[in-house]
Amino acid sequence: VKWTEGRGWHDAQLQPYAPLQIDPANMTLHYSQTIFEGLKAYRQPDGSVATFRPDANARRFQRSARRLAMPELPVETFIEACDLLVKTDRDWVPGKDEHSLYLRPFMFATEVGLGVRPANEYLFMVIASPASGYFPRGVKPVSVWLSQEYVRAAPGGMGEAKTGGNYAASLVAQAEAADQGCDQVVWLDALERRYIEEMGGMNLYLVRNSGGTTTIVTPKLTGTLLPGITRDSLLTIAEDLGYGTEEARISTDEWQAGNADGSITEVFACGTAAVITPVGHVKSARAEWTVGDGRPGPVTTRLREALLSVQTGQSPDPHAWMHRLT
Ligand code: PMP
Repeated sequence: VKWTEGRGWHDAQLQPYAPLQIDPANMTLHYSQTIFEGLKAYRQPDGSVATFRPDANARRFQRSARRLAMPELPVETFIEACDLLVKTDRDWVPGKDEHSLYLRPFMFATEVGLGVRPANEYLFMVIASPASGYFPRGVKPVSVWLSQEYVRAAPGGMGEAKTGGNYAASLVAQAEAADQGCDQVVWLDALERRYIEEMGGMNLYLVRNSGGTTTIVTPKLTGTLLPGITRDSLLTIAEDLGYGTEEARISTDEWQAGNADGSITEVFACGTAAVITPVGHVKSARAEWTVGDGRPGPVTTRLREALLSVQTGQSPDPHAWMHRLT
C-alpha cells in the first residue's frame, strides 16, 4: 500500500515476492525513516490459521509511525494486509508444534531527495517467512552480557519505536557480547547504566519468590524500551495462573543480590521470535553469575507452555487474542 501527501493511502496490491528498485537518493537510505513489526500465524488444531494479537502490532506500528513523523496506517488496513498474505501463503503455515509463519510488516520513505524533513511518499509492505521453533533441540538457556559501554536508547529518543536505527545501534554491542562468550546483550538505562531495560530483541522478566508468593517482575516502560506484546500478554497470563506481577525499575545490583540470596530464582526473556527463553548466565565487566541452577525454571517453563498453548490453539483463548482467518 502506498501513501502520498494529499492523497493518503492508495494502490493496495498483492504481488509475488520480488526485489524493489531503489533510487540512490531515496530518503530512507539517508535518513532512516523506517519502521517495522513482527508477528506470527499459527496453524490451529482444526487446520485453520490464526495470528496472535495483530491489533496490538497494528497499534504499536501507529505509535512507531508517530515517533518517526510518518503517516499512521489504519489498524484495519494493517490487519487486512496481514490476513491477505497469510491466506495467500496458507500452505506455508506449518502444522507442527510451535512452528509458524512469521510476518514482517514494514514501512519506509520512498521519496527521492536530499533535504532532511519527513518524506511525502511512503510504502507499506508485508512479507512472510516460515519460522521453525526457536529451540529445535529443547529449550536452552542463553547467556547474557550487561552492556556498560553502549546504550540502545536514551530518554526522549526512539526506544519505544520499532525502527531500524535502534537495531543498527545494537549491532556493535551484540558483537561485544559475542566476544565475551555471551549469546545476547542486555541493555541498561542510558543515564546511570544501573537499571535493566531489555535484550536485543526481547523483554526481560525476573521470577521473585518471597514468603511463599511467586511474582514475575519486568522493567517498567520508561520510554526507552520496546513495549513488547509478549511482555504484555505474560502480565495477563501470569495473573490467570495465580502469580503476582510487577512492573518496576530493577538494578543489576538487585538482580545479583537477589540471585545470591535465593529470592530471584529464575530470569527469562520474551518476544515473538522465541516466545520465552530462559536466561542461564550473566556476565558484566564487574561480575558474573549463574541464574538459579542455570537450567530452565518451573515458572519459566509453565508460562512458556501456557502462552504457546493459546497460540497453537491447544488451550482456550479467554482474552480473544487469536485472530482466526476463515
Ligand atoms: N524488545 C525489542 C528490542 C524487540 O525487537 C522485540 C521484538 N519485537 C521485543 C522487545 C519483544 O516484543 P514482542 O513481544 O512484541 O515481539
